[in-house]
Amino acid sequence: LRDLRIAKKIETNSPAEWKTIKYLFETMDNKFFEAVLIFEDTLTLCVSSQIGCPVKCAFCRTGQDKFERNLTSWEIVSQVKLVEKDIGREIECVSYMGMGEPLLNIENVMESMKMLSKQYKLSTIGINGKIAELAKINIPIDLYFSLHCAKEEKRKRLIPFSKNYQLANILEEINEFSKKKGGVILWYLMLDNENDEEEDAKELVNILKKLNNIKLVILKEYCETGTGFKKSKVENVKMFQKKLENTGISYRCSISAGQKINAGCGQLRQQFMLEAR
Ligand code: SF4
Repeated sequence: LRDLRIAKKIETNSPAEWKTIKYLFETMDNKFFEAVLIFEDTLTLCVSSQIGCPVKCAFCRTGQDKFERNLTSWEIVSQVKLVEKDIGREIECVSYMGMGEPLLNIENVMESMKMLSKQYKLSTIGINGKIAELAKINIPIDLYFSLHCAKEEKRKRLIPFSKNYQLANILEEINEFSKKKGGVILWYLMLDNENDEEEDAKELVNILKKLNNIKLVILKEYCETGTGFKKSKVENVKMFQKKLENTGISYRCSISAGQKINAGCGQLRQQFMLEAR
């Protein structure tokens, strides 16, 4: 475990809310990144797979910082081991949803899955060829597809790295994945005046028609991170809900657990770096 140390942690203890602990790790080469422990029914650690993120989502604090490097498989495993040691309990589920796009570091991510023996969740914006690769690994994985915008041109603006791929090809690959590994969960981050108009909702329904095994759509409340984006108004979320009701696909609205400790994507690292100056 000498490849990492816990540099800082922040926790919430409010019993009415989700209890979470956010960890800031420092690597041997003095780089910083985060993981979040979530005390749900299943004890889940949301780990990082990269330091910074080359995907550069316009709404994400991590995306605004410089991309430094991929984490090694040992650095991913060490996040779990150090947190287990810190809390004196075993993590049940490892969620690859922290800093970074896990499928851009797929070798180390798959290696870490083989080293740990846990339940796994992984979220991706969709990287061509890599979803198929993930489907081949002989380990159950719950895949979360971060669509966030169903209109392709607008999506490319919100998620700049997605301009390297055709959405139609990603959807095909997700269908192939779900044939082998079961239903996929689709995430849609609700952003005020960006992706929450009636036309966006209609396009989302069209995309859902092309996907043959979506087990749940999550309309995610945006955690405002100082990037200038705002969360959608309640009436727009309701309008989306109404459109989804007619599809017969399960959906729910969700708020970010990290939001409760002012710790949306990249926020703790940012705060730490400012304090360190
Ligand atoms: S939202 Fe995820 S994929 Fe997008 S820049 Fe942030 S860490 Fe990367």
